[in-house]
Amino acid sequence: MITIKSDFDHGNIRVVDANDPGDVRLEIRPDGKAPFFQWFYFRVEGVKEKALRMRIENAGGASYVLGWSDYRAVASYDGEDWFRVDARYEDGVLTIEHAPRAETVEYAYFAPYATSRYRRFMEAQERAPLLSRSVIGKTLDGQDIDLLSAGEGERALWVIARQHPGETMGSWWMEGFLERLADADDAAGRALRAKATIRVAPCMNLDGARRGHLRTNAAGADLNRAWRNASMDVSPEVCLVREKMRETGVDFFLDVHGDEAIPNNFLDGAEGIPSWDARHEALFARYSGLLLNESTDFQTKDGYPAPPPGKANLDIAANYVAETWGCLSMTLEMPFKDANVNPDPVYGWSPERCRKLGRDNLAVMARIVDDLR
Ligand SMILES: [Zn+2]
Repeated sequence: MITIKSDFDHGNIRVVDANDPGDVRLEIRPDGKAPFFQWFYFRVEGVKEKALRMRIENAGGASYVLGWSDYRAVASYDGEDWFRVDARYEDGVLTIEHAPRAETVEYAYFAPYATSRYRRFMEAQERAPLLSRSVIGKTLDGQDIDLLSAGEGERALWVIARQHPGETMGSWWMEGFLERLADADDAAGRALRAKATIRVAPCMNLDGARRGHLRTNAAGADLNRAWRNASMDVSPEVCLVREKMRETGVDFFLDVHGDEAIPNNFLDGAEGIPSWDARHEALFARYSGLLLNESTDFQTKDGYPAPPPGKANLDIAANYVAETWGCLSMTLEMPFKDANVNPDPVYGWSPERCRKLGRDNLAVMARIVDDLR
């Protein structure tokens, strides 16, 4: 007899039929007030040495069906070490076949980042001498929205992640970025803190994350489509951060995400905003080039096509910020699959590699900070 559970933090699955380990039928639950779905995370108990065959039967209706081709799921026996297991997508069904070596195993779309881990990490940041933490308000579910700050330089840098709650890679990235930012012995961190004040909203969508959503918050709002018309009723997370940005100004903005379909890390600029010009173009090219030198996992060939001039969606954070403050403003996307430029057959794109990319981005910020204005 096997048992499947998902009634925990970040959990998401609906069991259709789990009587036969060789033919487990599952569905992913859509976000509470919106039709998006793709994120899954569940625990299977009583499975040691059983040949488990699990079919996610509504995969064909998921938000990004291209995300399933060449996709491999992640699994863990201890909630720490997340390795890849083969998955196959055909006829609208994602099938995961695995023979676990332990009684209990967890499966997910990408390595989950527990809310408890986030809280512990925030408490640690509060104790870090070089960072300060403030709570700028509450989410609709009543969770504290954190803002961290470091440095005392003139330039105002902003970095945010997890607008889309299913993109847990953003939180792993943040661990690496913030650890380096808070490191008194790191030359890049020291240089950056001297020249800039760096403000970080490490987890924008705490409610969606805890509820096991892919894309939206407790009210069903896609926060990265809410920047022009954010409201305290529907998208307080964006409202509150935007308000702080109005107080501090913005000379640099990076919004950290994950992309379901593209098997590589890439940057998306704010091309297509009405005020896009040669200076925007040059700053974006410079950041991309520096990151290409800094990180073996980064590349610039795969990515989103730029929208036609003037056609950028200003509800998207990076576009809104670029247009409002006239600054270098980007979205960083990491893969759910693997980074094809530097593949890892065991772990794929992994928490440790997210952390490293976070550290590498900090080094690039330190090198570009003098040129931002
Ligand atoms: Zn995203």
